[in-house]
Amino acid sequence: MIDVTLEHVSKQFGSVKGVEGIDIHIKPGEFFTFLGPSGCGKTTTLRMIAGFYYPSGGRILFGRDNVTTLPPNKRNTGMVFQNYALFPHMTVFENIAFGLQVRKVPKPELIQKVERIQKLVHLEGYGSRRIDQLSGGQQQRVALARALVIEPNILLLDEPLSNLDAKLREETRLEIKRLQMELGITTIYVTHDQAEAMAMSDRIMVMQGGIVQQIGSPEEIYHRPVNRFVASFIGESNLWQGTVVALEDGEAVLRFDFAPELRLRGLIHNAASACKLEKGASVTVSIRPEAIVEASTKQDEAASLTNTVQGKVTISEFTGVSVNYLVHIGDTPLKAMFVGIGHHVRQRGEEIVFHIPKESIYFLG
Ligand code: ATP
Repeated sequence: MIDVTLEHVSKQFGSVKGVEGIDIHIKPGEFFTFLGPSGCGKTTTLRMIAGFYYPSGGRILFGRDNVTTLPPNKRNTGMVFQNYALFPHMTVFENIAFGLQVRKVPKPELIQKVERIQKLVHLEGYGSRRIDQLSGGQQQRVALARALVIEPNILLLDEPLSNLDAKLREETRLEIKRLQMELGITTIYVTHDQAEAMAMSDRIMVMQGGIVQQIGSPEEIYHRPVNRFVASFIGESNLWQGTVVALEDGEAVLRFDFAPELRLRGLIHNAASACKLEKGASVTVSIRPEAIVEASTKQDEAASLTNTVQGKVTISEFTGVSVNYLVHIGDTPLKAMFVGIGHHVRQRGEEIVFHIPKESIYFLG
């Protein structure tokens, strides 16, 4: 198990900025994910860790060793590429054994290691198959086996599930997680799929435009996003811009131009560090659709408009697990998600009254 440190790492491609000022410390045995939209710099960062690119600035350390300009074959990393990059005319065995042959591992040891890893990824009996005689999921497992057989210190995975269909992707992500935990190997994973990142990672680094936006556990990133980008990229968020009208009893009260009667009351401690909650300030609130509840009675609505909103259903989706609504309050959309039996499903055009619990309101800058 080894730790990986990036100190102020940047990469410039001529006049194009790849990434800038990346500072991270990945702990030994950690499952660490680079997450962000296309072009945000995930692959560039991973490739610098693998040694395929050298940084334009900064340092990369494996443990205490400075590997910044070390060639890839001297780093003892195993990598799985998005397209797997397998040798199509070779057998499964030959593909897996490749890295060991390059390292001149004696034949009996080589056979033993390949067979052990084939078993680990459930490919026993497939040794003599050619790659083009395998399904996509099996090819993915060969790629994983080929990366793991050299017993790398660090496993690097670049969108390894993107060529698989949805169901297989879910199965394979569990499988990769199981292997990673079993082997305890420091793993760096690149994806643009936030659900995948949330499900697999110990920590996630969210990137945009070559810059780190936030680093944290899935829970931290989901519940305490640092800015609008993270709040909208991870999960769903209703983002409303409002004005602080009062600060009292540890709570902030906001009003909104789109619904002048509405007052939203939230807990002051539920604020991103960059958010200045002061009277008259304009702030964005993030409200998760699943945090919204149906107002229990008409009395609630009559008693107070605080944290209670009424809107008209525009789209109603029954998924089995939940009912997802898109509601409009005037021109302003609100996404709400109800889970559970007993909810009477509203149809397009019907009125619905919601309550937004104050604990679920998060203030962004
Ligand atoms: P994707 O999910 O689409 O692979 P990514 O987040 O991995 O995207 P990168 O491939 O790291 O993004 O690209 C980051 C930025 O650097 C982009 O603007 C990209 O166009 C640029 N870039 C990457 N590689 C090169 C290169 N070899 N030459 C020039 N520009 C590059």
